Amino acid sequence: MQLSNRVMGIAPSLTLKISAMEKELKAQGRDVVGFGAGEPDFDTPQFIKDAAKTALDKGLTKYTPAEGTKELKEAIAARLNAKYGLSYAPDCITVNNGAKHSLFNVCQAILNPGDECLLPSPYWLTYPELVKMADALPVYVETTEENDFKASVEDLEKALTKKTKALILNSPSNPCGCVYGRQEMQEIADFAVKHGLYVISDEIYDELVYGGREHVSIATLGEEIKERTILVNGMSKAYSMTGWRIGYTASVKELAKAMGSYQSHATSNPNSIAQYASAAALKGPQDFIGEMRHSFEKRRNLMYDMINGIEGLSCRMPDGAFYIMVNISDVIGKTYEGKTITGSLDFSEMLLSATLTAVVPGVAFGADRFVRLSYATSEDKIKKGIERIGEFIEMLG
Ligand code: PLP
Repeated sequence: MQLSNRVMGIAPSLTLKISAMEKELKAQGRDVVGFGAGEPDFDTPQFIKDAAKTALDKGLTKYTPAEGTKELKEAIAARLNAKYGLSYAPDCITVNNGAKHSLFNVCQAILNPGDECLLPSPYWLTYPELVKMADALPVYVETTEENDFKASVEDLEKALTKKTKALILNSPSNPCGCVYGRQEMQEIADFAVKHGLYVISDEIYDELVYGGREHVSIATLGEEIKERTILVNGMSKAYSMTGWRIGYTASVKELAKAMGSYQSHATSNPNSIAQYASAAALKGPQDFIGEMRHSFEKRRNLMYDMINGIEGLSCRMPDGAFYIMVNISDVIGKTYEGKTITGSLDFSEMLLSATLTAVVPGVAFGADRFVRLSYATSEDKIKKGIERIGEFIEMLG
């Protein structure tokens, strides 16, 4: 089989090995604690499910406009207005098959072969692949744990070349949980405007910000940056609707139109039932989001305290999303059953086989001295899993 260069250039998921091991152990009936979840562990609220059932009963089961139903685009525009004071006409919105697909469309629509796209690192592992799928080049901007993994304008300036076309910004972030403050965001907005860059702003975790902090949507920081921003969000995390596959973009009309045409040939419209349910979700009661946020915040605090209570491990308090990056630098070089831990993949594999606890190796996000733990799981599981991690650290030689 002669595969295309395009697919050959895409990195296989580094996390697959661990999740395959985890699944196998679970299938054997073993008591595995998994910290790999990338989705809320709450069910989709009942009123959203009911709206899907009503859509089915009403026979709303046909093609919709490729870029999304009028009702949903209006509901998205209304949400952005109510939450952030952002004004987008419905034809500035496109609805896609999950936010990942939204990001794919954006990269296809704005990046040309050879263009460079800045990615603060650690990064969500899909970003480099999306950039490469557009024949463009991911350019990593290293951040530090001391700066809560946030990229400063000085960091970004160093990576800038004549070919830089865009920056992917993710706040709150996966994997680090970092949240850019208003001033930091303003500096990045000024930098993007000054250098004529587009900002692909992935705001999928915007509802999951803790400790009274605010989520600043970069498009709110002036007309010039709004014109250059492609806001990406979706139903997956805030509404616990990962399986429904609805994401969206908000941008200038010209770009929305181009992405709508592109999508019309690639996938046609997103699932009609999921679109009707999403409109109901956005228009309905929003109080469950606050309840979910409250649970996540409690779990974050528990996980943070427990990890920092283990000698050899440490973590910063993340301000958003549902992940904690655990610094494993002090145990790299130590041994388990005679084998040396050389990095995050070794650590994760050994931890899983020794204690049946699954974490995601940071090397998947460009951070080999860290592992990522998701707290989208119960407090009981957090207690049990972190205790096991502590026992594993004590086993190391
Ligand atoms: N962006 C980030 C940072 C994510 O972590 C995820 C999912 O894990 C997505 C986008 C994709 O979300 P969706 O399920 O809507 O495709």
